[in-house]
Amino acid sequence: MVADGFTCDKCGACCKVAVPIATLPTRDDGACSFLGADNLCLAYEARPMMCRSKIMIPASVKAGLFKNEAEAIAVKRKQCESYRAFVAANEGVKDGITSEAD
Ligand code: SF4
Ligand code: SF4
Repeated sequence: MVADGFTCDKCGACCKVAVPIATLPTRDDGACSFLGADNLCLAYEARPMMCRSKIMIPASVKAGLFKNEAEAIAVKRKQCESYRAFVAANEGVKDGITSEAD
């Protein structure tokens, strides 16, 4: 059980940046082919293990990658932030928007 756990806010950033490419098809823009227009997973019930935080977080602790779930969750949250930042920066470029106000 993920104590006081990680809550996914369904931003879809990981599905655009950190797709387990070896196992999932990707769109032309690099996002997972199962990512819907609403940023929700179209294959949610059948999504691979790598996409299941509630399984992967305790498994990563059990494997010795983190001291405990709190540490694993803290790292996961930082990952999400970096994915979001990457997506925001790249969507900005794609749309011709810069981060600086003119
Ligand atoms: S980046 Fe994090 S918060 Fe966003 S959808 Fe993925 S797991 Fe959820
Ligand atoms: S299978 Fe679903 S949860 Fe996993 S990367 Fe693709 S869209 Fe995201």
